[in-house]
Amino acid sequence: MGYDRYSVFSLLRESLRGHAGWGPAWRDAAPRPAYDVVIVGGGGHGLSTAYYLASQHGITNVAVVERGYIGSGNVGRNTTIIRSNYLLPGNIPFYEHSLKLWEGLEQDINYNAMVSQRGVLNLFHTDAQRDAYARRGNAMRLHGIDAELLDRAAVRRMLPYADFDNARFPIHGGLLQRRGGTVRHDAVAWGYARAADRRGVDVIQHCEVTGITVENGRAVGLQTTRGTIRAKKVGLACAGNSSRVAAMAGLRLPIESHVLQAFVSEGIKPLIDCVVTYGAGHFYISQSDKGGLVFGGDIDGYNSYAWRGNLPTVEDVCEGGMALMPIIGRVRITRSWGGLMDMSMDGSPIIDRTPIEGLYLNCGWCYGGFKATPASGWCFAHLIAQDAPYPVAAALRLDRFATGRLVDEKGVGAQPNLH
Ligand SMILES: Cc1cc2nc3c(=O)[nH]c(=O)nc-3n(C[C@H](O)[C@H](O)[C@H](O)COP(=O)(O)OP(=O)(O)OC[C@H]3O[C@@H](n4cnc5c(N)ncnc54)[C@H](O)[C@@H]3O)c2cc1C
Repeated sequence: MGYDRYSVFSLLRESLRGHAGWGPAWRDAAPRPAYDVVIVGGGGHGLSTAYYLASQHGITNVAVVERGYIGSGNVGRNTTIIRSNYLLPGNIPFYEHSLKLWEGLEQDINYNAMVSQRGVLNLFHTDAQRDAYARRGNAMRLHGIDAELLDRAAVRRMLPYADFDNARFPIHGGLLQRRGGTVRHDAVAWGYARAADRRGVDVIQHCEVTGITVENGRAVGLQTTRGTIRAKKVGLACAGNSSRVAAMAGLRLPIESHVLQAFVSEGIKPLIDCVVTYGAGHFYISQSDKGGLVFGGDIDGYNSYAWRGNLPTVEDVCEGGMALMPIIGRVRITRSWGGLMDMSMDGSPIIDRTPIEGLYLNCGWCYGGFKATPASGWCFAHLIAQDAPYPVAAALRLDRFATGRLVDEKGVGAQPNLH
């Protein structure tokens, strides 16, 4: 038996019955021969797309095919940070749309995703960096998004334990977005899977796509390890594997795949009550509800499809942590893992049609795709349903690398190792 809706009443009832009555959160669907839409990749983006296809567009003859289990990809591997503190007009409205969807998500999908708007604080360490952050904060405010530039004293009140007088990288201040924060990552996958399933979507696990069937320039179906599936439309949401899956349809994407590692320490008493990013290197940290410090840094700087990183990056991340807050020097790291990043050449994502009719593309999330999960699904579902981009995603086109209309958020050009 399961519950149609989770509520305080079902919780009370189950707590009195030894929690024997919770059913599976979603059906273990087997592939059917044909669907209106098939989404490849059951990560956050694929599942949210399926959910919004059903909830916003009434398209429910939909399957999500996932080669592993739900939550096995990046959606369950990230450091859970959400924010909308972007600089460029091509990105700001999109990420703000996402943050607004996060704010209502738990009610919408009836699932506790532990959305915690604890604030995201980006530190700056030089005058030039302060100017860049002031510019970014102003751009955000011009779009109606909250942003506060904090001086050194204000940051010190928030982070009394940080090393403000580090000889090389003293902290001068920070850019704070109070509405940013964290969300329990795998609950997002489970919540969207359950909500999509409730609306009739088939969530098919352990079903790897091995080929894309194209007839007369149109995608008409998929070959999978569980048989052939016909589809009127196919959406690719394969994150780090995007290049490999798109190649099945003969497409070469402007994407490189890189490993990104994450780390969790032993549980300690409450210390960090927001998300902090260190501006002099690449280091970001928050504290989970269980007390573990959750942190990460840069991608391993080589192309790979592996889920395991290497020691130089571990060292680099720990050095960043020590420079920012030497107080954590004796805390033990208990877990680390890697995920696969789909790095685009301008640091911004792609949500667009492809040159193949009926084949749609969602990728290029670099290492910021978790925060985009709701808006990505929203906009991708709109694109697939209406064959036109949702306005906030209109700049995220595939052909921008040919036309030169880049959304170069980081200003580093075609060097994904610098994103
Ligand atoms: C260590 C780490 C830290 C991160 N931190 C953050 C953060 O703090 N904030 C943030 O916003 N973002 C962060 N990210 C990035 C974010 O996790 C990703 O950008 C985002 O999750 C990618 O979208 P997704 O959830 O759909 O990907 P995934 O969960 O990877 O989904 C793609 C799915 O496609 C499936 N697939 C691939 N090939 C096939 C095939 N042939 N057939 C069927 N299925 C296939 C995969 O198995 C996978 O499940 C981080 C990532 C990592 C690894």
